Amino acid sequence: MEKSAKDCMWHADDRTKDGLLRHPADSPAWKHFDAIHTDFSKDSRNPKLIITSDGFNPFRMMNSTYSIWPVIAIPINLPPWFCMKQPNFILSLLIPGPKSPGKDIDVYLEPLVNELDSLFEKGVRTYDAFKKEHFQLHVVVHSTISDLPGLATLAGVATSGEHGCPKCHLLTCSFWLTKGKKTCYMDHCRFLGPNHRYRTMDKAFFNGKVESRTAPDPLTGDQVNSLTENIHTVFGKDPKGKQTIRKRKRGDPPQIFKRRSIWFKFRYWKDLLQPHNIDAMHIEKNVCDNIMNTLLGIDGKTKDSINSSQDLQLLGIRKDLHPVPVGKDTFDLPPAPYSMNPKLRKLFCQVLKEARLPYGYVSDIRRNVNVKKKKIIGLKSHDCHILSQKKKKNCFH
Ligand SMILES: [Zn+2]
Repeated sequence: MEKSAKDCMWHADDRTKDGLLRHPADSPAWKHFDAIHTDFSKDSRNPKLIITSDGFNPFRMMNSTYSIWPVIAIPINLPPWFCMKQPNFILSLLIPGPKSPGKDIDVYLEPLVNELDSLFEKGVRTYDAFKKEHFQLHVVVHSTISDLPGLATLAGVATSGEHGCPKCHLLTCSFWLTKGKKTCYMDHCRFLGPNHRYRTMDKAFFNGKVESRTAPDPLTGDQVNSLTENIHTVFGKDPKGKQTIRKRKRGDPPQIFKRRSIWFKFRYWKDLLQPHNIDAMHIEKNVCDNIMNTLLGIDGKTKDSINSSQDLQLLGIRKDLHPVPVGKDTFDLPPAPYSMNPKLRKLFCQVLKEARLPYGYVSDIRRNVNVKKKKIIGLKSHDCHILSQKKKKNCFH
């Protein structure tokens, strides 16, 4: 008890403060909040929480739409080696259902949000086992962590379609791929430094265009607050038993917020610099899986399909990759610069199979590599992290 009471003050007392980013307490978001809400920050025992949630399917193949959403609160005052340990996770909600809760998650979240709000405003009398005294403990939600579709559920932000980037909002650069039948997000070069060489590599990226724009400014908490103030949302089913889905009509203004985020019930929510975080390793795994499948040319999973080649043709870019007709309705796909022949693919798999990686960093990836079939299946997110990062000294022996 005494030890964990002391650990709650670790971020203020024992943290190394050398400007490096090691813990959320080193981030500008944490410092910005502390500077505004001094009543809260003057006592370092007051915990800050991260709320995280994602759906998982407990029945796998038996029922593919059923999902359970655990909502977990993590106190992040603790040192990094404690705050991500299972005993410090507070499982506050478990939302089961025949399908994902969608916007109705707000109904389930409401009691939790109300309780957390009263813990911030009024606090609760608590005994400090380390200092041997009573004090009024206040709690604040520092941010949420989810994947991108989870963000749409938790915060009502559009994460797909024309304006599907929550950071770029109305300035999202997107277009529809006619053959691939999906929205494509491009123009990433504007996020690079002003003199980055990629900005002028016009042929490699897009239509001979040199990128001179800077990254769009994300919306501030106050802007989001006022934009969503008047959105009226009907939860649940309508009395006739049908789900209420309002389709966007032609001429309607673009919708970047589908509903008002329930987190705005907190008085301080609009002051947060980074209220929602994306689980980067989740994205890294998806990207790594797709790169592997494309490099190894796995049927049905490679991104170098006839559709993507025809889309390049329609857009008039990368002429070297356009499909070459070889008969009626049959095309040859020219190999991309990174394409590997079967011999190289086998070698690639062999290298991964024999790689010696630092103990504790990855699972036994030898089991995921099938050299004979030239396939890599079932990599875990930590494996993908190690494989995607720049080759470090002594990583591959
Ligand atoms: Zn964006």
